[in-house]
Amino acid sequence: MTIFNLGSINADIVYRVPHLPLPGETLSTTGFQRGLGGKGANMSIAAARAAGRVVHIGAVGRDGDWAVQSLMESGVHTQHIQRAETTGHAIIYVDETGENTIVIHPGANREISMSSVIAALSDATQGDTFVTQNETNMQADAVRIAASKGMRTAYAAAPFDADAVQAVLGDLDLLVLNEVEAQQLETATGQTLTDIGVPDVVMTLGAKGCRWFHGKQAQDFAAHKVTPVDTTGAGDTFTGYLLAGLDRGEPMEQAIRLAQKAGALMVQRQGTADVIPDLKDVRDAFP
Ligand code: ATP
Repeated sequence: MTIFNLGSINADIVYRVPHLPLPGETLSTTGFQRGLGGKGANMSIAAARAAGRVVHIGAVGRDGDWAVQSLMESGVHTQHIQRAETTGHAIIYVDETGENTIVIHPGANREISMSSVIAALSDATQGDTFVTQNETNMQADAVRIAASKGMRTAYAAAPFDADAVQAVLGDLDLLVLNEVEAQQLETATGQTLTDIGVPDVVMTLGAKGCRWFHGKQAQDFAAHKVTPVDTTGAGDTFTGYLLAGLDRGEPMEQAIRLAQKAGALMVQRQGTADVIPDLKDVRDAFP
């Protein structure tokens, strides 16, 4: 089957600075790095490295060939990535203590057209998977179309926005969110995760693992014991692996166990998209 991911594609532009700039201050950097980022791109790469067949739906600017190339090299199908003005980017300052500030310019990620979503999903069939997060436009329309086609619909509620998640809840089969997002959703809806009407909800809990809500039942999965060096992208890696497992027909428990291994491996690696582990590493880990 195929996983269609409507998701963001960003350039993560990281500047090392002696200290975070003060208002009005001009600073020289001590280092510079550019890499692929965005929750959407990370999730597509994770699902592809988990041996899923992934079609990414999104947009980059005319300066975005390198990002598309990078997704292709990870095995992601990129024919439904359209062109807009400017590739989304995150300007990240990291000081000598590791503290950071981040400014995101969504750019092309918010300029995805309805026609490109419809064109991409015209290739989808019943039983395929659709996933999106909250870093693009078109989420609610796309989830509705995917649900009407009988696809498995999944949403990662990050970055959290109460209106965005409530606009898709009624059409979802699976919601993935972390503990903070879960609290925000319960506050916004006045309902518990078991009452929001989504058949499966997976709440990730970092070093504590995750909890799966299925109807009124809840099941806990303990995390693997590791020493984290960089937790960036753990959630995206977890969700990509979870969806790839479900898409190839694994039961939820099995898909969650694999996703937990992938998340625990990921936090032991410095970096984001480039270091998302592949399926062999994940299967071999934590025997
Ligand atoms: P991020 O926003 O940093 O990508 P998140 O908040 O969306 O992360 P987490 O709950 O931190 O997601 O992590 C997702 C999954 O990764 C967890 O459910 C767990 O399986 C694994 N994981 C994360 N942190 C650790 C850790 N310190 N030790 C072991 N496993 C971890």
